[in-house]
Amino acid sequence: MKMPDQVIKLNEDKCRNSYSCVRVCPVNAIEVRPERAHPVIMADRCIGCGLCFLACSPGAIEYRDSRSQVKQILKSGRPVAALLAPSIASEFDDITDYRKFAGMIRSLGFTYVHEVSFGVDLVAYAYRRLFEESSGKYYITSNCPSIVEMIEKYHPNLVPNLAPLVSPMIATAMVTRSLYGDEVVNVFIGPCIDIKAEAARYSDRNLVEAVLTFIEIRQLFDEHEIQEKTVKMSDFDPPCGNWGALYPYPAGILQAAGIKRDLVSSHVITASGAEDVKEAINDFDHHIDTIKHHFNLFFCQGCLLGPGMIRHDERFRRRSLVKQYAEKRVSTLDKKQWKEDMERWSDLDLSRRFSVNDQRIPDPSPEAITRVLKIIGRDNRAEELNCNACGYGSCREFAAIVAKGLAIPEMCHTYNLRNKQEYIETLRQTNKKLSETKKALKESEEKAMREKDAAEDASETMNSMLNKLPNGVVIVDNELKILQSNKRFLEIIGEDAEDIAEIIPGLRGADLKTLLPFSVYNIFSFVLRENESVISRDVQLEDRMFNISIFPIRQNRIAGAVIRDLFSPEVQREEVINRVSDVIDKNLEMVQKIGFLLGEGASDTEKMLNSIVESFRQKKDATGK
Ligand code: SF4
Ligand code: SF4
Repeated sequence: MKMPDQVIKLNEDKCRNSYSCVRVCPVNAIEVRPERAHPVIMADRCIGCGLCFLACSPGAIEYRDSRSQVKQILKSGRPVAALLAPSIASEFDDITDYRKFAGMIRSLGFTYVHEVSFGVDLVAYAYRRLFEESSGKYYITSNCPSIVEMIEKYHPNLVPNLAPLVSPMIATAMVTRSLYGDEVVNVFIGPCIDIKAEAARYSDRNLVEAVLTFIEIRQLFDEHEIQEKTVKMSDFDPPCGNWGALYPYPAGILQAAGIKRDLVSSHVITASGAEDVKEAINDFDHHIDTIKHHFNLFFCQGCLLGPGMIRHDERFRRRSLVKQYAEKRVSTLDKKQWKEDMERWSDLDLSRRFSVNDQRIPDPSPEAITRVLKIIGRDNRAEELNCNACGYGSCREFAAIVAKGLAIPEMCHTYNLRNKQEYIETLRQTNKKLSETKKALKESEEKAMREKDAAEDASETMNSMLNKLPNGVVIVDNELKILQSNKRFLEIIGEDAEDIAEIIPGLRGADLKTLLPFSVYNIFSFVLRENESVISRDVQLEDRMFNISIFPIRQNRIAGAVIRDLFSPEVQREEVINRVSDVIDKNLEMVQKIGFLLGEGASDTEKMLNSIVESFRQKKDATGK
């Protein structure tokens, strides 16, 4: 037996992350992961109950659409049998006569139209026999595929208690096969979504090739513009069903087989609807020795209001519609023929098997639950609001689901609210800081502008001062790139440099190594490296002599130099004066020592040398050079 494919899917384009689906899922098959933008339906865990499909307002939960498959089948030329679930009376209350409905189905191209209520009758009597022969073993009915999946996946220990009987859909498909041979293609039409998965279980025998929900068959009628008024009446193909027509009632199958249902003598308990069913299965699991009843379970409120139907309201009116339809069908039924039909197919093999598909996740440790409770702010019992807003029965139940990794704390409304308030407060604080920072930035921008203006003024003043100096001045960085130089420096190093300076004022950024010989720029390197001044060093540049003093301005980073042209008359005189002064000082020192030894004669020497210096000064003043 093949396991079913995924029937229920989530369309992320339509999903608005309301988590309604997560909250209604009775088996926590929809996971919310922090790293995923939308919830994820875990096919292995899903039981196809369709509750999420009904809960999702934007229609993001979808089920497998079988319309195009059926259209292909109808075009294939093979005989096709429609197997109609007895719930048609509940769904198609807008169609006045069931024979019109059968006519509409034939108009789509179906060769045969069969009532599944005959299959219900066959299965109902098989249940009667099973219950009568159970000898103290109690069964859970297996007509509802969601119940079967729930037990296989979440109560695997109860798999041996699943009634080993096929569903009415499969029984009916076996009947049509025996009538028309293996050629016939069976298409089931009903209120159920998960029955698509059940049909896939029998794909190896191809008993039911496709399943249409009532929603899908309505869409096909619309596509083909098939309406009640445009078709002729047409009856169902035999064999006809008897009280199997009551199947949409949760207890309808029991009634169909005449199984006792009164409180005292009945050995079967019927439960329907997700909550009752969950409770019933738990009780069966733990207390069957006390309960001592078979359980007849349907996940929906019976197939009266399956998820594949257009509307899910007016439950009691729909019950009445089903009852009226069943009475009408039974009143016109050829009972003798029905008995013969039941006899004819009494030897059908209605047995089936189930397999364990354990999807239980071990319960988290109490510590893990406590950790989650702390995260959502439920540190102590008094704070456990159990408001159910998350969709779970209690804060603890929700914390356990989060600890299992199937939900996230953000699904707790109060946690979200608190986070939002904290977020708003953080935003407020951030805004305040931002406006303070903005103000400070503006002030510092204004200050920087003022400083920039002042620096530009200072730089301009310094440049004009530098350019007025008779000596060359150059300032370099530790890579010997020129930061500043004056006009005289350009004159000293030649015409080429002056041309460059017209494009790059002050030769800023120029490499000193390309402008001066190694012997000179090496002195700059020395000063920068050793952080020591070199004062008054004579150097030769081409055919001229210069006197250069280099000194550090910023340790190991910036150095400055003053270059004097020893061939210029001012420098020559100044230099002679300086050097004669040096000689006088040195001689004086020596003469003083000698005078000290010899007496008066030394003062004449001083006078003589001073007169030389004075004569140079006078000459300079007279010539103005
Ligand atoms: S179909 Fe049912 S079991 Fe599957 S995800 Fe939806 S609510 Fe859960
Ligand atoms: S109760 Fe009926 S319609 Fe609902 S899941 Fe079960 S079989 Fe399908």
